Amino acid sequence: MTEAIIFDCDGVLVDSEIVGLEDTAAFMRTKGFDWQAADLVRLFTGLRDDVFAAKLGDEYAKVLGRLPTEEEAAELFTTMIENRRHNRHQLQAVPGTAEMVSVLKELPFKRAVASSTRIQYLHDKLTRFDLWDDFAPHAYSAELVDHGKPAPDIFLYAAEKIEADPARCIVIEDSANGVSAGIAAGMTVWGFTGGGHCYAGHGNRLLEAGAVEVIENHGALQEKLTALAAA
Ligand SMILES: [Mg+2]
Repeated sequence: MTEAIIFDCDGVLVDSEIVGLEDTAAFMRTKGFDWQAADLVRLFTGLRDDVFAAKLGDEYAKVLGRLPTEEEAAELFTTMIENRRHNRHQLQAVPGTAEMVSVLKELPFKRAVASSTRIQYLHDKLTRFDLWDDFAPHAYSAELVDHGKPAPDIFLYAAEKIEADPARCIVIEDSANGVSAGIAAGMTVWGFTGGGHCYAGHGNRLLEAGAVEVIENHGALQEKLTALAAA
């Protein structure tokens, strides 16, 4: 019996992963990385800044043939982030989010958001699309816990706050890192591919990470949640 639905934010509610993606990939190619936008999605989506920076350092070492200096690593990280932020005026909600949430609010499930984004950004993004009040106070950032995704911490934290048994929570996630985090938390994970960054093969990567199924858009999610409540 499902007790709660826990949503990732970026790439699920807010279509942020696609923003600045092509610019960032182009910048990375100038630094010697043989990457397209889909490679950035595969490697980095769903990660808290510290996990992202560590992984980026590893990838940079492959390009340089040596470990990057602290300055080199910091400059690369900062410029990647700036490329994304520079384009943030393009940010949209994932299509159908508002309708899905309005249906969800009528269903007998607890709900929460568990995000890798910093608290301030999470608040800003959800507020911008009138979603904050639909989840508050249960919109949580991985800043609040010891380890970022793919560790389970933020999902367990959210479940504790809404007083839900992790085994009776369904996680909605767009990244393989996030799916792994949900699985590690002992939750059921539905992969979600309604974001603009979900290229061909993305759904399969979510299944490989442990998602029990892949849902392509918020219309389909809304139907699944309604059917689940009626079961
Ligand atoms: Mg995400």
